[in-house]
Amino acid sequence: MRFRLLAAVALLSLAACKQQPSSELPGAVNGARILAANGDEWLSYGRTYDEQRNSPLDQINQGTVKNLGLAWFADLDTARGQEATPLAIDGKIYITTAWSKAKAYDAVTGKLEWEYDPKVPGERGVAACCDVVNRGMAAWGDKLFMGTLDGRLVALDRKTGKEVWSVVTLDQSKPYTITGAPRVIDGKVIIGNGGAEMGVRGFLTAYDADTGKELWRFYSVPDEPGKNTADHLKKAEATWKGEWWKQGAGGTMWDAMAYDPELDLLYVGVGNGSPWNQYYRSQGEGDNLYLSSIVAIRPKTGEYVWHFQTTPGETWDYTATQHIMLADLTIDGAKRKVLMQAPKNGFFFVLDRTNGKLISAKNFVPVNWATGFDVATGRPIENPESRYYRSGKVWLGSPGPIGAHNWHPMAYDPLEGLVYIPAINSAFPFLHKPDWKPNKHGFNVGLDLAAGAMPADAKIRAGAIAATTGELIAWDPVAQKPRWKIKFPGAWNGGLLATAGKLLFQGNMAGEFNAYDTATGKKLWSFDAQTGVVAPPSTFRVNGEQYVAVLAGWGGAWPISAGVVAEPQGPIRNHSRLLVFKIGGKGKLPDPGPYNLPPLDPPAKTGTADQIADGARNYGQFCSVCHGDSGVGTGVTRDLRRAGSLGDAKIWNQIVIGGALKANGMISWKEELSDQQAENIRHYVINRAHQDKALGMK
Ligand code: CA
Repeated sequence: MRFRLLAAVALLSLAACKQQPSSELPGAVNGARILAANGDEWLSYGRTYDEQRNSPLDQINQGTVKNLGLAWFADLDTARGQEATPLAIDGKIYITTAWSKAKAYDAVTGKLEWEYDPKVPGERGVAACCDVVNRGMAAWGDKLFMGTLDGRLVALDRKTGKEVWSVVTLDQSKPYTITGAPRVIDGKVIIGNGGAEMGVRGFLTAYDADTGKELWRFYSVPDEPGKNTADHLKKAEATWKGEWWKQGAGGTMWDAMAYDPELDLLYVGVGNGSPWNQYYRSQGEGDNLYLSSIVAIRPKTGEYVWHFQTTPGETWDYTATQHIMLADLTIDGAKRKVLMQAPKNGFFFVLDRTNGKLISAKNFVPVNWATGFDVATGRPIENPESRYYRSGKVWLGSPGPIGAHNWHPMAYDPLEGLVYIPAINSAFPFLHKPDWKPNKHGFNVGLDLAAGAMPADAKIRAGAIAATTGELIAWDPVAQKPRWKIKFPGAWNGGLLATAGKLLFQGNMAGEFNAYDTATGKKLWSFDAQTGVVAPPSTFRVNGEQYVAVLAGWGGAWPISAGVVAEPQGPIRNHSRLLVFKIGGKGKLPDPGPYNLPPLDPPAKTGTADQIADGARNYGQFCSVCHGDSGVGTGVTRDLRRAGSLGDAKIWNQIVIGGALKANGMISWKEELSDQQAENIRHYVINRAHQDKALGMK
């Protein structure tokens, strides 16, 4: 291992490294510095190119963690989901926050060094399927790089936070977004995008770190026949049917990347189809390459090398954009260079990363779309009922579109040989929508999204809540089985960090930030973060002291869309903050006081039964993905049952049709809804509020 590491360093290092600890190399970040990182710094998204999120630091360990305390904290100026990994370079911490803002702090004192706001237009929020989040920055040379929600890639001067260059990476007339962190390989800044719920075509682009010049672009799905020049796209055409390109076909690469410097391969996770329903995307047939695949790309040229498709003919939003992690494992007595992923479809994949061949696949939560994988063919053994567009009946699929695992990063512990997965148990009623046509705004997935709305029935709700849980799973990737598990009452919990101190750090929706024993899962330390924590922590060392940093702040796809099952413990408030811990830290968070959620006190019922039913249909189609299933919002975005405008038809219309709150992301829906349809949604929400009040909701 050591030999290989040094060989790789030699390969990349032209000037920099003489095996000094990285903290003695202030200044430019380069491949040698990232490869030689000894844990003192956190230089790239997953710390190292293999994205193991494992730190060799052990000052904070099972013996000392009882003395771990808050060194300092910083309040953030947004109250939406916070998902970024803090970078730590030369004694400074760099974060991004909701709405694609960036901030730099002195790692020891917490002093704000600079902040940057790209001023993303609020209207862009409607294109974001999953909250206006950002997962962080990449560092190279003396610059930092980040994507913005409206599709820019921005280079900032690391010292001053001033913009050095900015490029628009995508067609801003289409509903693309960027929420993922870029990676930089050998001076090439690589960035993807999202939007496959709305109707776009996914691609990855590389830019020159110095100038912002575009170097290459890799498309994940074919354009219409005759327009594809790349060999991998020409090959993919045969796996599609009909006029797939009309809705973009999807395949957005919005999160996972990893890099092997010896093989010189960049691994990227590809997202779901656009629309979800394969009937409308590809006449219900074909593998639809390279949806839901892991692709290996040559980072110098963007050239395709190999792929592995985790879900052929994807039709359930089963992306393979989830965390990709590289490791060398001993399997059947042989050392293997593997790639590991636990994508939304619920199977843990171990691939040979030299060629993309499947070594093993095993489900890490209960799933019902497939019974297993055939290792010889690399294909799933599908449950025929799962293709809901053939039956036209509701199919209750597990996992649901939120996945068995979403974007929340895993972590690897080489001491225990375990991969830790922030997993989800979820289900979703998939129902084909006859005569579906895409809309200009909002989700375009080809499903009847209103059909599965949660009824006002206490028993059904309790059942749904009980069936929707989160799990922290310690997974043995060689044996393909869990060693230990911790179950959480809610699905959406934090990303992970494992350390040589034999500690596993994770925040959760109950507002805890915890440290567990990596071997057993025993909870050894806990901090009250006063808000849901979904972001992954990072760790670093300055002046001989080890720190752990994490962003707190509740939000993301699940909190905004999942309604009553999103927060089984009651509404979770968003206190968006950067929290930084060290041994002996004595900092205290201020008393948060009571959570003054507006009461569930709706105006008198309005509307006829037909109007309410019409409102329910359009709420399900246009509103639920941001304001919560069945009108049950969580407070990250407005809980409409408690909105002041609910009792005033005129103000309601000014918002829904007039676009009065577009700066917050609430655009005008006049291209989709008539005045009467908007008013019917108000009738529906009033009715829902009365039903929930009768059920005893506060
Ligand atoms: Ca998706």
